[in-house]
Amino acid sequence: MRTGRAGHDPARMLDWDCLACDKPWPCDPAREELLATHDAVQLRITMWSALEEAVHILPPTPASELFERFLRWTDRRVAG
Ligand SMILES: [Zn+2]
Repeated sequence: MRTGRAGHDPARMLDWDCLACDKPWPCDPAREELLATHDAVQLRITMWSALEEAVHILPPTPASELFERFLRWTDRRVAG
């Protein structure tokens, strides 16, 4: 059940894990929330910004991994 702000937000200044469930953000509930509250364009802009922010915080991570984590899943919206 979607409860709105369930606290599935990233630990932005720390490790970008979810504050609620401790998984790499965006966790599944966070993705659901983002999908529900953003259109396809907003979603990509939001996730690009998140990626750019996270890249300065996270340990060196392959770009492909970052892409998978932050952006690839957003295609779900377009694919329907
Ligand atoms: Zn979470």
